[in-house]
Amino acid sequence: MPSLAPRPDLESLPKYVPGRTILGAIKLASNEVPGGPLPSVRAAITDAMGDVNRYPDSGSQALRERLAADLDVPIDRLAVGCGSVSLCQQLIQAVCGPGDEAMFAWRSFEAYPIVTQVAHAVGVKIPLTDGYGLDLDAMLAAITDRTKLIFVCNPNNPTGTVLHRDEIERFIEAVPEHVLVVLDEAYKEFVTDSEVPDGVEFTRTHNNVAVLRTFSKAYGLAGLRIGYAVASAPIAEALRQVYVAFSVNAIAQVAAIASLDAADELLERCQEIITERERVRNSLVDMGYDIPPTQANFVWFPLGERTVAFSEHMLDRKLIVRPFPGDGARVTIGTPEENDLFLAAAREFLS
Ligand SMILES: *Cc1c(COP(=O)(O)O)cnc(C)c1O
Repeated sequence: MPSLAPRPDLESLPKYVPGRTILGAIKLASNEVPGGPLPSVRAAITDAMGDVNRYPDSGSQALRERLAADLDVPIDRLAVGCGSVSLCQQLIQAVCGPGDEAMFAWRSFEAYPIVTQVAHAVGVKIPLTDGYGLDLDAMLAAITDRTKLIFVCNPNNPTGTVLHRDEIERFIEAVPEHVLVVLDEAYKEFVTDSEVPDGVEFTRTHNNVAVLRTFSKAYGLAGLRIGYAVASAPIAEALRQVYVAFSVNAIAQVAAIASLDAADELLERCQEIITERERVRNSLVDMGYDIPPTQANFVWFPLGERTVAFSEHMLDRKLIVRPFPGDGARVTIGTPEENDLFLAAAREFLS
């Protein structure tokens, strides 16, 4: 008799390392925004608590109606998920059979290889350019008959680099129609470069483009787990089919709508982070660090073998950053005071 054991391939599954939390330390590890929920969002969350004896709306109908109106897309092209990480996995489950390929840049969002393998697909990693950006030509060249999906993270996590409208246009035109291009726009609200397109525009003209957005970053709801996808109607329907029933909870749905109501105020908060991002990067470049220009709420330190030493140096000063050993460290932009402490520590690391 065979004995019960988990799938053997899970032993080789890369671990998703969450940003560490240490009492009294400053966490610059998970690309969260420093501000808590606005009073209006807090009130909506408090109100929604009264109904938690009921199951949530598994179709997130009210939120999808709101997003349909805000984005000017038909409601049948929207799917809501338990964070956009969950939607990444649903997309692979929706289009990849066992052994099909999902392609992504590397380094990019660390959840991509994990959700790919969990869904029995094969991850194909394409190295970044020398400027730490996505190498779209290399990605095109790596497409095979088995390629079903390509993640294009814009801005790219963890490097902060962006792709421009003309680059993405050319890429989408060249990708075969049987391959789904997923534009992951988790950091869209922090982009100031006007050449960076709104991915939803591509979904209006191309059935093989999907866009992922999240309420975790600019909208400040990381702890509630909610994001959405805009895609063609059949892909959006497939996303809803593979959805784990009721996984987007009722409080998250209400908080997302309240956050859209408060979008002006929330986006103004992002403006402060953008200002700080520029200040932090300029200071680091002045110190002599190689920091790629960033359009997100974090900066990338391509430190190679010095990455772990850098992270340990920061931990000794109660600053938590996100190291990717052997590659680099990602540091989230915090409040001005937090950033000042980080900059002082970064200066010390050089001496
Ligand atoms: C943070 C992030 C997400 C969103 O995560 P949630 O599951 O919505 O919290 C998606 N993609 C990228 C690239 C991210 O960095």
